[in-house]
Amino acid sequence: MLDKLKVWFEKKGGNKKHAALIGMAILLVIFNVGQLYYKEHGLGNTLSQATSVHFIDVGQGDSELIVSGEQAVLIDAGPTAAADTVVQYLKKQNITHLRAVIATHPHEDHIGGMAAVLANFEVDEVVMPDSVATTKAFERMMDMIETKNIEVIHPKVNTGIILDSGAYLQFLSPDPDKTFDNVNNYSIVTMLEAGRQKVLFMGDAEKEIEDSLIHSEAVLTCDVLKVGHHGSKTSSTPEFLKRTKAKTAVISSGAGNDYGHPDPQTIQNLEDAGFTKIYNTAVDGTVVLDFEMTEQPSEPSQEEENAA
Ligand SMILES: [Zn+2]
Repeated sequence: MLDKLKVWFEKKGGNKKHAALIGMAILLVIFNVGQLYYKEHGLGNTLSQATSVHFIDVGQGDSELIVSGEQAVLIDAGPTAAADTVVQYLKKQNITHLRAVIATHPHEDHIGGMAAVLANFEVDEVVMPDSVATTKAFERMMDMIETKNIEVIHPKVNTGIILDSGAYLQFLSPDPDKTFDNVNNYSIVTMLEAGRQKVLFMGDAEKEIEDSLIHSEAVLTCDVLKVGHHGSKTSSTPEFLKRTKAKTAVISSGAGNDYGHPDPQTIQNLEDAGFTKIYNTAVDGTVVLDFEMTEQPSEPSQEEENAA
């Protein structure tokens, strides 16, 4: 039985205010995954409800929405300038409630829109690293958390959030007992396992974290990689990229950004590591991945039964 991963690819025009001018292109990509996949991933968990991941075009910043059945999780909320974009996007998806909001690390391009999100939606818990900033964006987020009395969690590695659909979001980094000089390395790194497909969200984690993940127990094999730090050359080492064995990469960056993201070296590294699809929100607009539901849990094979 072959597995399918559909990628809807929404392409938007430059001026978001003129909806009539927004062009949309839909691309369907189907991955046929054979026996090799099962060897590397196992049979995967079950996925009983429609699940999709949206890499929202927030300009220079990050915001990813996971929608699984009736539940949703938001990873980052883009910069302050995109707060309304994120809120309106979620409303367009008919979201009123978020099972969790993950603030990967306290940089403005990730948490600028967070206060607006927390104000507009009912949120069960905010997941964030034990790292603070003295910025207005951080203060606004913390004030809103206090105002709405939302629970804050600094997750332990290898814990996670199980959604009703069977989708599982696992926290891979950072180790809460460690401290880092570079705030990017506090990024909460998560692996979404939805049926037989996996998406690795790197936040802005850099080489130091990639190296420690390589040398940890973490399974890094995935289908889709949300590339670390907007495609900066401070992330995405060849060794790390190869370890993911992924074929699809999504870079979240703003058109004409001042940082030169993504770096040409990162694109080269991705191509060298065997990535065949590289999306960039600056060019492609919002990218939506839609996961195929699995059937009933697979019967164990004769071999597995004998082994048990
Ligand atoms: Zn960033």
